[in-house]
Amino acid sequence: MHSASFRSGLIAIVGRPNVGKSTLLNRIVGGKISITSRKPQTTRYRITGILTQDDTQFIFADTPGFQEQHNSALNQALNRCVVQSLQGVDAALLVIDGMQFSEAERRVLKLMTDCPKLLVINKIDKLSDKRQLLPFIKNIFSEHDFEAIVPISAKKNLQLDLLLQALRELLPENSPIFPADEITDCNERFLAAELVREKVFRLLGEEVPYAVSVMIDDFVLEHDLRRIRASIIVDKPGQKAIIIGTKGQKLKTIASQARQEMEKLFGSKVFLTVWVKVKRGWANDRLTLKKLGYE
Ligand code: GDP
Ligand code: MG
Repeated sequence: MHSASFRSGLIAIVGRPNVGKSTLLNRIVGGKISITSRKPQTTRYRITGILTQDDTQFIFADTPGFQEQHNSALNQALNRCVVQSLQGVDAALLVIDGMQFSEAERRVLKLMTDCPKLLVINKIDKLSDKRQLLPFIKNIFSEHDFEAIVPISAKKNLQLDLLLQALRELLPENSPIFPADEITDCNERFLAAELVREKVFRLLGEEVPYAVSVMIDDFVLEHDLRRIRASIIVDKPGQKAIIIGTKGQKLKTIASQARQEMEKLFGSKVFLTVWVKVKRGWANDRLTLKKLGYE
């Protein structure tokens, strides 16, 4: 039994590419997700990690849109996407790289009106002059309504305990939402698919809709080599052409970046081939869902 003061809630992590969201999440949860969180259309959120402590369960979710944005203006569809995915979250973490708080952050803050927000100043290990931090924080507090501002280094593991303490304060009293036996380590197939998917969004965020999926067709371990065949599944031929790019350049970059991250993650050489397939209405097709591992 958990005491009345147990807290749990859904937390959105938002921030521009490369600010360190994935690094932070990996530090905090180390790849633990809920096996029930993988169905694509049952929820607006993609749950990316869960941390259960004695008195708190933190459930982290991805927000489509903003975090895949480059520096250009948010268009209306993406705005809607961010707003929708933030509805119903209990708290949001806005992650920034050092003291880089720009127009993009101001804009996304305007969309994040309904939930308590925490600003995470990441990469403080890189700051040459730490004396600037305090005035910076004061300045942000005077302009925006953050519940807390926490400087951290995800990479160097600095102040992550403080961040979790501050975050806990924002969560409602609640019993754990996910029972312990539903929480699992992501397996390598799943992680491989997620990495390819992430690269698609990172390179094409504004041009492809969120409903892209990745299927791992083959995953073979040979001595110190992983031989992986993945398919990116899209709805329309036009999307396929965009992902492939001129002379296949885009797809090549997606595959090469995904492979490099897989090699780091799995600690072995990876031989990766990626195909793009058109499957109309894939999200409604039970057989496809089954193959994708969602059912
Ligand atoms: P994301 O796009 O927001 O998910 O960012 P990533 O987690 O992929 O990180 C982008 C880059 O920033 C990677 O090269 C990380 O190693 C690096 N990084 C993340 N956190 C820190 C940090 O605390 N300090 C430093 N120096 N680098 C970091
Ligand atoms: Mg990331």
